[in-house]
Amino acid sequence: LPPDFVAAPQCLENKVILVTGAGDGIGRAAALSYAQHGATVILLGRTIEKLEAVYDEIEAAGYPQAAIYPVHLRGAAMKDYEELANTIEREFGRLDGLLHNAGVLGQRRTLAQTTVDSWDEVLHVNLTAPFMMTQALLPMLAAAENASVILTSSSVGRKGRAFWGAYAVSKFGLEGMMQILAEEEFELNNIRVNSINPGATQTVMRRTAYPGENPQNNPLPEVIMPLYLYLMSDASKTVNGQQFDAQSK
Ligand code: NDP
Repeated sequence: LPPDFVAAPQCLENKVILVTGAGDGIGRAAALSYAQHGATVILLGRTIEKLEAVYDEIEAAGYPQAAIYPVHLRGAAMKDYEELANTIEREFGRLDGLLHNAGVLGQRRTLAQTTVDSWDEVLHVNLTAPFMMTQALLPMLAAAENASVILTSSSVGRKGRAFWGAYAVSKFGLEGMMQILAEEEFELNNIRVNSINPGATQTVMRRTAYPGENPQNNPLPEVIMPLYLYLMSDASKTVNGQQFDAQSK
């Protein structure tokens, strides 16, 4: 993040941005922040009440009206993502940004003790679902002027660590997908693709991973939004294939 970066108030005006896992945690904060900066945000997630609450907050604040798109990423197949693409095309006629944020932690165990069911779930939700969704949405992103795709990684997606199992492997996979897509799509279609490691952030996932920790030691999701805004706005339109840390000191 450029040290002097400040998001312009309407830096996402006229953009349509899809956020996965938009009902809670970092995804909720990103959806609200994108809407505050002028974007029409498509709220994708699995718990409709949570998505509705974010939708209502956006409406109450007077930001551009959002849309809700419930999907359970564990069960969704390619045809569901094609339907998603068709719906966005029909309702909005464009897609400028895609924040892959939804994720599951899975079992905090050694690989020796990780069950195949848990491995499958984590790899599917965290890695296969973003692959399928991105593939279905690429044509619309290619048609946008300066499309941005952000993949959400983790420190354990850059350096493996004991007990982080399938979660860490899925994040390594996302980093690989980021690098490949960045090479394939930027020159050809002007779609930039980058990854963010949010760093320790006050959410349900963090509390589950570190039950003994005082949650207040970590920043709220709102605090890490400058990087999310930078990468989604045209301020970063030449930035591609890079790994970012939202809390780099
Ligand atoms: P939360 O658990 O608070 O939120 C995760 C979101 O993903 C929720 O909205 C959840 O929906 C959604 N989600 C999970 N599974 C599915 C599914 N099968 N289908 C649809 N939606 C689903 O996590 P965080 O906000 O903490 O994490 C966001 C991202 O940041 C994740 O990718 C995580 O790996 C990453 N990250 C977080 C860190 C942290 O300290 N918080 C550190 C490093 C990385 P619902 O609420 O309905 O269950």
